[in-house]
Amino acid sequence: MEIQEKLAVDAFKNDTESHITLDQEKCMICRERFCIYACPAHLYELNEESRKMQVEFAGCLECGTCLIACIYGAVTWRYPRGEFGVQYRYG
Ligand code: SF4
Ligand code: SF4
Repeated sequence: MEIQEKLAVDAFKNDTESHITLDQEKCMICRERFCIYACPAHLYELNEESRKMQVEFAGCLECGTCLIACIYGAVTWRYPRGEFGVQYRYG
């Protein structure tokens, strides 16, 4: 089974508030944008209109990779509140 197929069977119970926030001032001067390439769920993107970074918290795999990938410390991340978040089916 391919990794994308495994991810497709994971279930998510999404909270109404995000467990990930970004420091837009730091993102504004960031040229590398490692978060975009590092997130295995492809949740980070640059909004072409506002030129601000955005991250979709629904679908987060709770791997913590974005915390490490961002060399500017712009990511504030915590686990979703109890009962919310990802439910892995195939690890
Ligand atoms: S979150 Fe970090 S890596 Fe991503 S754009 Fe902002 S500063 Fe750059
Ligand atoms: S914790 Fe993992 S899946 Fe969630 S946003 Fe960060 S890199 Fe993406």
